[in-house]
Amino acid sequence: MANSRETKSNRKELMLKISPYSFGVGDRFAHQAKAQLQALINAKEAGANVVPVWNKSHREHTTIGSEIASTEAAARAAVDALNWTDPWHVDADHINLDIVDHYIPTSDFYTIDVAKYIGNAAAADDVSAFVDRHPELVGEISITGIDETFQITTEEVTRVANHFLLAVQEAAKVYQHIKMERGDVDNFVTEISMDETDNPQTPPELLIILAAVADENIPIQTIAPKFTGRFNKGVDYVGDVEQFEKEFNQDLAVLAHAVKAYGLPDTLKLSVHSGSDKFSIYGPIRRGIAAFGAGLHIKTAGTTWLEELIGLAEAGGDGLKLAQDIYESALEHSDALRAPYATVIDIDDDALPSASEVHGWSSEQYTNALRHDQSNPEYNLSFRQLLHVGYKIAAKKGDRYYEQLVACEESISRNVTTNLYDRHLKPLFVS
Ligand SMILES: [Zn+2]
Repeated sequence: MANSRETKSNRKELMLKISPYSFGVGDRFAHQAKAQLQALINAKEAGANVVPVWNKSHREHTTIGSEIASTEAAARAAVDALNWTDPWHVDADHINLDIVDHYIPTSDFYTIDVAKYIGNAAAADDVSAFVDRHPELVGEISITGIDETFQITTEEVTRVANHFLLAVQEAAKVYQHIKMERGDVDNFVTEISMDETDNPQTPPELLIILAAVADENIPIQTIAPKFTGRFNKGVDYVGDVEQFEKEFNQDLAVLAHAVKAYGLPDTLKLSVHSGSDKFSIYGPIRRGIAAFGAGLHIKTAGTTWLEELIGLAEAGGDGLKLAQDIYESALEHSDALRAPYATVIDIDDDALPSASEVHGWSSEQYTNALRHDQSNPEYNLSFRQLLHVGYKIAAKKGDRYYEQLVACEESISRNVTTNLYDRHLKPLFVS
């Protein structure tokens, strides 16, 4: 048998490696993959090589009642139709051991969500073994790219290990399961997400987490930490942009350090969840990845569904009527629609127009209120967020919705592409 070092590096060569820049696109109703891919093609023509990752969470599939395989089928059809020859992926987003099996046949990217295990203590023996194995984590830690140094005591390493080790062990179980099911090969990308927790991880915490990930032999290529501030669905970042920039850069520094120190894949990069529409932090993100020569994965999802609505409204006639009806139902079922997303939306009820008012709107009034153009005085943040979580209503409309997606294809696809390219890919990646 080869020594362990060789085994590790052999495994890395066989691993499906993610490109430096990847962009998550969510296509709730599986009709916009072509329009989304067109945005990536526009970026490529402008000199930015970014690969698409079609992501759809179990929550979205369940809400819509869609077939899991439909995500990959729609993506593949778009890739074929537009002759996309660069890599592309399908992300089983926020999965765990209970649901992962459904995603094995059609996903080559797995976002393992271990947030619910964070804070639950691992076995005491495992924690002390971890601490014993990592004397380098104790003392004065300096990380290239971070000005301050960190004084870490054995007690602190123990505390952090107690907080996160079980979550990493769970991630390892899910990773091993996927690998076995996929024929004992690393022909997929592994992400670990810790974004749906209360507090951002500090640099020492992230370093300790990555040491544990390496110990568990998880070939992690993207990690979604929790960032400071609010990442509300489909709207701009709310928080201290300067603090975000500082933490984002520190996270980049920790990743680079951990790749060297623990032999993690050199493709390891940050993943920004709920990344659509966060216009005020795209500048800091772009500066950070340039300064560190780092890659980036950024996930978007519901922003495309809102462009479907904009395209329907813009088309006028039956399309506009449907967009108005969807708002009316969303308003009627507002509490139920908002509940699952309560922590990631901030809707001001007083700012919501009445259903009868919206029924009187022109195409322009509807799209002005909905389109994410903060310079437009008619833009309505609350209207946008309610519709963002209202996609279940469109699913319930069934054939009527799908028929209008086809009837209004021109205005919808134009808006889907423009949104992803002009407002997202361009500020993030195109020089
Ligand atoms: Zn997430």
